Amino acid sequence: MNNESIKILSSPVMYLKSVGPKRAESFAKIGIHTVKDLLFYFPSRYLDRSTMLDSSKIYEYVINNYEGEVTILGKVIDKEIIRYARKEILKVQMRDSKGFFECVWFHGVKYMKDLFNPGDIFAVAGKPVLTKYGHLEFVHPDLDRITETESNQFLNTGKIIPVYRISKELKASNLGDLSLRRIINSAVEKYSAHLQETLPEEIISMHNLMPIIETVRNLHYPSDMQTLNEALHRLKFEEILYLEILIVLRKQNYQTKRVGNSFTIKTNLVSRFLKSLPFELTKAQLKVLGEIRRDMESAKPMNRLLQGDVGSGKTIVALIAMLISKDNGFQSALMVPTEVLAMQHFNNISRLVNPFGIKTALLIGGQKKSERNVILKMLASGELDFIIGTHALFEENVEFNNLGFVIIDEQHRFGVAQRLNIISKGISPDVIVMSATPIPRTLSMTVYGDLDVSVIDEMPKNRKPIKTYLRGEKKLPEIYKFIIDKAKAGLKTYIIYPLVKESDKLELKAAIAHYEELKNHHLKNLQVGLIHGQMSSKEKDEAMSAFAQGQYDVLVGTTVIEVGIDIPEANIIIINDAHRFGLSQLHQLRGRVGRGNQQSFCILVTRDEFAEKINSAINSEFLSPSQLEKQKTITRLQSMVKYNSGFDIAEIDFKLRGPGDVFGVRQSGMPELKYINVVEDTTLIMQARDAAFRLIAEDPNLSFPSHKVIRTNLISSYKDKLHYSKIA
Ligand code: ADP
Ligand code: MG
Repeated sequence: MNNESIKILSSPVMYLKSVGPKRAESFAKIGIHTVKDLLFYFPSRYLDRSTMLDSSKIYEYVINNYEGEVTILGKVIDKEIIRYARKEILKVQMRDSKGFFECVWFHGVKYMKDLFNPGDIFAVAGKPVLTKYGHLEFVHPDLDRITETESNQFLNTGKIIPVYRISKELKASNLGDLSLRRIINSAVEKYSAHLQETLPEEIISMHNLMPIIETVRNLHYPSDMQTLNEALHRLKFEEILYLEILIVLRKQNYQTKRVGNSFTIKTNLVSRFLKSLPFELTKAQLKVLGEIRRDMESAKPMNRLLQGDVGSGKTIVALIAMLISKDNGFQSALMVPTEVLAMQHFNNISRLVNPFGIKTALLIGGQKKSERNVILKMLASGELDFIIGTHALFEENVEFNNLGFVIIDEQHRFGVAQRLNIISKGISPDVIVMSATPIPRTLSMTVYGDLDVSVIDEMPKNRKPIKTYLRGEKKLPEIYKFIIDKAKAGLKTYIIYPLVKESDKLELKAAIAHYEELKNHHLKNLQVGLIHGQMSSKEKDEAMSAFAQGQYDVLVGTTVIEVGIDIPEANIIIINDAHRFGLSQLHQLRGRVGRGNQQSFCILVTRDEFAEKINSAINSEFLSPSQLEKQKTITRLQSMVKYNSGFDIAEIDFKLRGPGDVFGVRQSGMPELKYINVVEDTTLIMQARDAAFRLIAEDPNLSFPSHKVIRTNLISSYKDKLHYSKIA
């Protein structure tokens, strides 16, 4: 490699034209230190002439009631500040070749007004409306400033304009659309020729990829859409290829290092246990159990993801696998994210398996030291068969006699490191991780690529779909009446108040105040209990058990009951301030009911305005960007009313939040995907995956000279991800 080039690319951005120390500092804050970093700061989007509309087209569009965003290029003619109800409103008049339009700001007027001077050209993006005087208006649109030259090229030659994200750090040193584009443009022209190829020649030619220098140039200044797409393709391919290589290395490491146990059915323990259950397993549960048994029999350590919607009956499957492990003389550990859930699993599981002489214990943070010591001793001596617990399980002083099987419930709550930590307490134990969030196949193959996947895709029989309603706060009196009526028929209710953080004192206070009010006032003739995260584990356990045993009609709680809680007698869940919860969280909460064979209800309580709007399904009101969060909120609530299945819910959540947030990708120990869309780029992912597998099969240690570039790049760009592999 050329040392001169490396030196140039790694020189600080400070010395670039128009940068200097102050701007360099701003760049550093968003991770841009060197010239190379800047070359890899790609546009977040592009202005493409084919997606622009002129004012006469937009007029048509609005007249025909189309909704959605449009982009238009306009020149500033004039601006004015209007006072209305003691507030300032900024109006900017603009025009394009076909006519006039106006942009309006109700907030930030002081800052915005200085942005516009007659003759300035902007790309304006937003949702257009017609004013009562019949002209086009954009309220709080997005703006990108464009030079005269750019706009001429754009209109005459169809050149595409890159738009870079301008964070507040960049703004702070006066970097705007124009200045940033100029700085990057000049860096690309001067220095991109020094970039070194980051993919092996064989892969580039086999997959017909664009070389790195062209890719970088075209991402910044594409000549046309076709070229831009090719450059993007290369970028995505490279991103996913490296991720797949990491996965293959991890998998290789995992399998060669360990030889697992081979578990077979030894006695009639499992069949006796199955007979003792009050129900039969569903077809889906049996199928999954078959897959698990096959893995357990094989000497290759099992590493399996068990997926199934809330209430599909994952726990019982896991428990049967634990029994198989016991049958072979091994201990099992079940790790869950919350104390409440650990206590529930402990109570249920010990009740089910005690008759078979199986010893089960609970290990959580809130236990007394003496109690804990007894458990630890029994665990180390092998007296205990099953241990159920929280994070407390992977503390250092927890030792097993022979841990052969590990189950991790609600796995998205744990990181890879924690997963490995508990696993390391056994000698190659078999591992199952369970999750209620359906993960798209491409994602499970990529990000969770070292796991095999089993899906329970069927609910137990006799379940009735939960009826979900959305109600405004003013309906609360009626809702209380509903709870009271249903309580007479023996139905139990959860009432949930949002607590963003269980440690938030103020919100907790509010939730407790609501509880007092319900207990002493609205629901005074019912038995009302309370549970929240600040209670001791003993208090929490008592509250849950009392509710499970029917001592309460109503359990008021925070999100401590969000995951996993299973009380089939609970049929109604009221979720207050539903707009404050995420979609998958709402689905999880709703999954607390509908677990028996009675009709269940989920009532989402929200602001009257939301409820009215959604229930009447009228949503033509214009939403300005500051209100776009509101649009998402409405979509979330709407989907809850419309869909019952976790698959549908996950798909929408995915669209609203992106895969990283939804599926715990951040905790998976894998690099975040910046360019790949796991839903849309399936073909490309499969190609890159094949390429990665072939590459490592051929050259497991990446020692071929032609693969040196991969090795170098892995070590320079993915160093922190390598400790699960041998390359480090
Ligand atoms: P999740 O998949 O959400 O963890 P659980 O394992 O908590 O679901 O199961 C939900 C409820 O369904 C439990 O009360 C469990 O006993 C019950 N259940 C599990 N399997 C069946 C089945 N095949 N038939 C009827 N009920 C079942
Ligand atoms: Mg569960």
